[in-house]
Amino acid sequence: MPVTKTINLFHRFPGLYAAFKQQKVHRVIRLLLFFMLVVLIFAGFFGPQDPSKNFMLYLCWGLWWPGVVLSWFFVGRMWCGLCPFPEFGRLFQYFGLTGNIRVPKFIVKNNMIIAMILLTAILLIEESTRMYESPRESALLLLFILGGATFCVLLFGKQQWCVSCCPLGRMIGFGASISLLEFRADHDICRQCKTFACKRGTEQLPGCPVSLGAFNIVNSLECHVCGYCLQLCPHDSPQLRLRSPLHEIVLRKGKYITCTYIIPILMGSQLARILDQSVLSYTSKIQATCTSDTVCQMGLYLIPFVLAIIFVYMIVSLGDLFFGVYHDDLLGSFSPMVPVLFPVAFAGELVHRLTFAVRNAYDFFPTIGRQFGWSILESWTFTVPEWVYPAIALPIMMMGQIGSLYVLDSMVFGEFEGLIATWRYHTIQIVFILMFAIYISLISMSWDIGMLNVLHLMHISI
Ligand code: SF4
Ligand code: SF4
Ligand code: SF4
Repeated sequence: MPVTKTINLFHRFPGLYAAFKQQKVHRVIRLLLFFMLVVLIFAGFFGPQDPSKNFMLYLCWGLWWPGVVLSWFFVGRMWCGLCPFPEFGRLFQYFGLTGNIRVPKFIVKNNMIIAMILLTAILLIEESTRMYESPRESALLLLFILGGATFCVLLFGKQQWCVSCCPLGRMIGFGASISLLEFRADHDICRQCKTFACKRGTEQLPGCPVSLGAFNIVNSLECHVCGYCLQLCPHDSPQLRLRSPLHEIVLRKGKYITCTYIIPILMGSQLARILDQSVLSYTSKIQATCTSDTVCQMGLYLIPFVLAIIFVYMIVSLGDLFFGVYHDDLLGSFSPMVPVLFPVAFAGELVHRLTFAVRNAYDFFPTIGRQFGWSILESWTFTVPEWVYPAIALPIMMMGQIGSLYVLDSMVFGEFEGLIATWRYHTIQIVFILMFAIYISLISMSWDIGMLNVLHLMHISI
């Protein structure tokens, strides 16, 4: 296994260590975010339903969610340590009002499937109903996650929603795999440990909220990077480390099934979405066909969505076929194209979320003004030049592309050196570059810049 250097930030910045250990900052931020969540839900249900008169839409889809996606790269799953959704359940926990029911085997066994079904449903509903234009539907989504997180605490005690069901958590865990930070225990220290208090807790404090424990962390998928276990560990074993962002996916090779499922779903939804927004406008056509029937809209949107997922799945399978190596002595079987596609999938999601945030930023203050009758805010607007969109999208997509090719090279010329024929390696590169070209050409359709609009330049009209 390749070893890379990491820097323990807790050693370098003792103040950071103290902040994580005391948990006061975490509690304050969580409370503030919980307050914001309640305001958003309230504004979504009881505020104006006209999107140009309700500020909650931009807060939710333009600031909150793009901010979370951006944080994946820098701080991994740290958002989950500050997330307000489990906060209501924590209140019940504090007063001892929680059940201790054993989690049904069905849920334990199928937690990945449950989370993936929920994630697919959310992506499907989000696009087919244009949820980001509907305050009530956006509030319903927030309420659904808040309800799920609270219900699970009431039933099972700990944050079982986060462990088993939360689709956002799965996505964040997926993104955290290419984060600059990792939270890990020092296993040399843990080997001497007798208490395992990070997982089990002490007489005064309960253990890890997601029943993991620092000594159990082997990847970035599950740990919330909340730092709660620092106060439990008697040996200062947990560390927050700065690392090479692509190290984890090269090391694990996409072995974890979360990534295997998420890559086709995420990239499929991106392709369906940018095809819709740039070329085909099928959401509008579907909405016109189905008038007010939401089920009909979702049903029809399912067709391009599933076709896009199948397309990405075929790219993954084709790439696997050419790669030819599916086994690692330590990890067992894996799908080599999953880690290769990982950086591009992340870049595509980031571009989409940031584009939405920038395209709608000009109307944030006027929207608040319209909602509360403060006409002075109507003039607090600005124009975003069209070149800004490619200036955001192209560097991010290029970094994703370079990241993907780096992962491919690391595997072909690293651990599997000599096992993959040169023609196979080049074939994967060609398939990958073709896919990347499809992405760029579709994204460019949404820019009102003729010289950058690839399909327009090729005189292709759809
Ligand atoms: S898993 Fe979901 S509910 Fe739990 S902390 Fe993360 S985002 Fe929040
Ligand atoms: S992290 Fe601390 S409490 Fe947990 S096993 Fe290691 S030494 Fe023990
Ligand atoms: S292992 Fe530590 S940092 Fe990770 S979720 Fe558990 S308590 Fe939080």
